[in-house]
Amino acid sequence: MGQRLGQHFLVRTSILDRIARAACEEREPLVVEIGPGRGALTAYLVERAERVVAVELDHILAAGLRLKFAHTPQFELVEGDVLATDLRQWGRAVVVGNLPYYITSPILERALALGPLLKRAVFLMQKEVAQRLAAAPGSRDYGYLSVRTQAQADVRLLFSVPPRAFQPPPKVDSAVVLLTIRERPLVEDMSAFVKFAAACFHQKRKNLRNNLAAVYGEMGDFAEARLRAEQLSLDQLVELWRRLRELIGGRAIGT
Ligand code: SAM
Repeated sequence: MGQRLGQHFLVRTSILDRIARAACEEREPLVVEIGPGRGALTAYLVERAERVVAVELDHILAAGLRLKFAHTPQFELVEGDVLATDLRQWGRAVVVGNLPYYITSPILERALALGPLLKRAVFLMQKEVAQRLAAAPGSRDYGYLSVRTQAQADVRLLFSVPPRAFQPPPKVDSAVVLLTIRERPLVEDMSAFVKFAAACFHQKRKNLRNNLAAVYGEMGDFAEARLRAEQLSLDQLVELWRRLRELIGGRAIGT
């Protein structure tokens, strides 16, 4: 069960403290924790927040959490799958978690989909994925995940965490990432832009004309047609998206 649910428990107290401080620099009204496990990080979060709602799937761990925090009024447990939980229901929140790595991407997607309801997110994840989130154009790690995340949030790689900080140790290095939602959205229709970005990077080695034609049909000529998406910065992709939307008038790309 443990390995299947990505259960690697953080045991290094200095790291737990740093994660909690990054999430709650000041006292926070609401923190949503994903995958509290045995409550190691939770114990630091309840010290720094008025309310901590923790979503845990494993019912044995959930029972342990109920006992551990029975006398902690700030603590609330939701026993269930985070991917089936409506994260909007508590309102604007800081979202934190030492993530179960097998569902890092869908958790990220759900957190970002919160839009302005996400105050900030602090996630411990595979270092390789963290580097992709933060990557700039021209780097090996730059791709859809970088564009999708940076379109909505400022991404900061805070620090690395070695396998020995966990029990049992995972096979990969990990890193803590801070996502701060942009106050003013970069695009007027985020879900349309996200679909466009996914199409642009659909086949990494194909150029933009090929990747976009497969989804949207013929769109006339545009200067970047022979480039690959990875050669364009986020701002350039946004600019291209706007131009193509106008070009095909009404039949908006990504909608
Ligand atoms: N936060 C704890 C810590 O730092 O020691 C545990 C982190 S462990 C990497 C991931 C946790 O997520 C486990 O407790 C696991 O049971 C839980 N989990 C796995 N899949 C989940 C899901 N779909 N929904 C909610 N929790 C899940």
